[in-house]
Amino acid sequence: ALASTVAACGVVSSGNEQKAESNEKKKDDKIVIGFSLDTLKEERWLTDKALFEKKAKELGVEVKTLSANGDDAMQLSQAEQLISQGVDVLVVVPHNAEASAAIVEKAHREGIKVISYDRLIKNSDVDYYVSFDNVRVGEMQAQAIVDQAPKGNYAYIGGADTDNNAKLFREGAMNVLKPLVDKGDIKIVYDQYSKDWKPEEALKNMENALTANKNNIQAVVAANDGTAGGAIQALTAQGLAGKIPVSGQDADLAGLQRIAEGTQTMTVYKPIDKIATTAAEMAVNVAKGEQVKADQKVENGKIDVPAVLLDPVAVTKENIMSTVIKDGFKKLEDVFKNVP
Ligand code: BGC
Repeated sequence: ALASTVAACGVVSSGNEQKAESNEKKKDDKIVIGFSLDTLKEERWLTDKALFEKKAKELGVEVKTLSANGDDAMQLSQAEQLISQGVDVLVVVPHNAEASAAIVEKAHREGIKVISYDRLIKNSDVDYYVSFDNVRVGEMQAQAIVDQAPKGNYAYIGGADTDNNAKLFREGAMNVLKPLVDKGDIKIVYDQYSKDWKPEEALKNMENALTANKNNIQAVVAANDGTAGGAIQALTAQGLAGKIPVSGQDADLAGLQRIAEGTQTMTVYKPIDKIATTAAEMAVNVAKGEQVKADQKVENGKIDVPAVLLDPVAVTKENIMSTVIKDGFKKLEDVFKNVP
């Protein structure tokens, strides 16, 4: 008994016992996923965090989540922190598509694979990419606005130019708008990105668009619900809210409420549950060294990244019930709270 007590304390042990011990440790070693977020200041990312952590828990793995507050240097140092804490895999929502390539390099030096979440890390050897069809998102936004305003002056209020998605949303919108511009039906009189996706930047953009065109604007394609909120604030100040169509994205509560009230035309619902689940499962497969299902390829300036691209859903007042409400993404009483 004495011998075994001593052995258990690790003071004395035979070779066999040591082997057994180290095997035991391996088995107990829980997989840890590092989740590095750009920001938690926007509604959607709080949902991503909650659902990703929930799914990981169900899969029996641990998640260490850090958010960088829109700061590139902080996101890199947080990633380094996660790497040095020994995470098995990194899942990254990059603030900056280019700067975040440094995160991939650091992780790879330690043999840790990186999954790009929702936003693509460009010009790097990033291992996988999970997102939605973001060009399609932009097409849905512009199409919904063209349906309401087939002719006239258009303002494009974009997202952050540091985010690859913002470029894809714009590309998609232009796929729809360009033929109409060529036909002479519409004219794009304003076209600007909004720094860091900030609603106040979008507000300024919309004010500039209105001033430069003496309020002669018939339609607004805004890249998400945050920028739509800023644009609609500027329209409200000119008595134009609800009179011209405005797009959005994310099915944020505020965006859906504006749709219910009639100041916003549409939003794009991206089922967060799907991206969070896909990414969590993928991260676990990667950590276990198992095969990963990623049927698509997305070029990132350096390599073709194996990718999974999920389907977005266009939401207007007509289908709020059969989409976001039916899915349990938002509650009916919250969405229609301000509608008499
Ligand atoms: C996401 C959008 C989000 C935006 C601002 C984009 O990369 O795809 O869902 O609204 O970032 O955070």
